[in-house]
Amino acid sequence: MTDSAAGTRPDDHDLLDAPDAVARLRTRVAAQFPALREDLEALVRIPSVSNATFDQSVMDRSAQAVADLLRGAGMPDVRVLHATGPDGSRSRPAVVARRPAPQGAPTVLLYAHHDVQPPGDRAHWDSGPFEPVEREGRLYGRGAADDKAGIVAHVGALRVLGDELGVGVTVFSEGEEEIGSPQFGPFLAEHQDLLAADVIVAADSSNWKVGTPGLTTTLRGLVDCTVEVEVLRQAVHSGMFGGPVLDAYTILARLLATLHDADGEVAVPGLHHAPEPSVDYDERSFRADAGLPDGIRLAGSGSLAGRLWTKPAIAVVGIDATGVDAASNTIAPRSRAKVSMRIAPGQDPAEAFELLKEHLLAHAPFGARVTVHDGDLGKPFAAPEDSAAMQAARWAFEQSWGTAPVDIGIGGSIPFIADLLEVFPDAAILVTGVEDPDSLAHGANESVHLGDLEHVVLAEALLLRRLARG
Ligand SMILES: [Zn+2]
Repeated sequence: MTDSAAGTRPDDHDLLDAPDAVARLRTRVAAQFPALREDLEALVRIPSVSNATFDQSVMDRSAQAVADLLRGAGMPDVRVLHATGPDGSRSRPAVVARRPAPQGAPTVLLYAHHDVQPPGDRAHWDSGPFEPVEREGRLYGRGAADDKAGIVAHVGALRVLGDELGVGVTVFSEGEEEIGSPQFGPFLAEHQDLLAADVIVAADSSNWKVGTPGLTTTLRGLVDCTVEVEVLRQAVHSGMFGGPVLDAYTILARLLATLHDADGEVAVPGLHHAPEPSVDYDERSFRADAGLPDGIRLAGSGSLAGRLWTKPAIAVVGIDATGVDAASNTIAPRSRAKVSMRIAPGQDPAEAFELLKEHLLAHAPFGARVTVHDGDLGKPFAAPEDSAAMQAARWAFEQSWGTAPVDIGIGGSIPFIADLLEVFPDAAILVTGVEDPDSLAHGANESVHLGDLEHVVLAEALLLRRLARG
């Protein structure tokens, strides 16, 4: 490996030491941006939908296109790889590109996925989902934001820094994020040595709004279970036995109703609440985004952002019961429901499951037999407040946008983040993104704000250089 391929050592001459360093890098990004935007358009034209009902040969073409971009950005070792699942099935192609760290410098893993969601109904799009078009400063197309802009941001930072990276870089572009990263665990296990890094930048989230960057510092975790109630050995006539015996559906409904108090606050005792976020949602836009009709009151208490990001939430996501059309005058003997609980950052999923289970067993109405079966457990995420990587990111974002990043949370989980933490517990994870609330990722008319994408490229270049200082 020659010196130039390995990158300049951070202490040889630091790009950032010059008083106009940020301005100079900004000029370089601006010069590169038209070509980068064309590369993004070319990626959007490849319909890399990972959903199995779509042509999966396109995924290979997509992976090759990403690999070519990374080679062109100076990555000496670029591979298209698959993982093999426990059942022998092959994962969709992932791209791993590496450039070793100069001696003593950290290695940074840059993540973005190259697969996309299905386009949905063409009639809901104002232009073809795979025909990128610019309107009012935004580039429209499936994947223009989620997450092909993430790939292009990594490529852009690599191009802008060239041989002045100062850190080792591994770019990892997964091909099945949109179907829940089913082979991510096996992939990490198989290629752990290739992917090991000191800092991980996962560019698959959102900024706060156009012009204001965001760092995703918390993700809720997930715990689900199936709860079953039994009140009779078999179904009986509701005229002959109704009155002293309540049916299983009523019993189940009463049990499920104990999961919240009268105000809709989660009533399972002992669950963790993380501190309130520093920003909040405005109720009007929340109602519009959720499609809540007028007159429906919001449940819970505290700020809306807190209710969505830092407190637990419980939803019943399925109930087994006789359908209305097949109903007869019988008292149902048993029923079951699937309960899905979002847990706050900082909560242990196994502990949360036990609390939920204890609550359900303790509230069995009328002595009904209640059984709780465990389901999936997903860990929440909370970025350490003041890690060196976090400080470097805050600095880089503020330099690039001219305004400090907002700490944001996500109410859902990003499954691969939990997997990464499992395999690389000592790595600092930065969850960044190219989206904004108008990006409509997964929806019709998905788009990326081109001005913000340019800010993301500069911020990432600045971040890499800052991390090179150690
Ligand atoms: Zn994504």
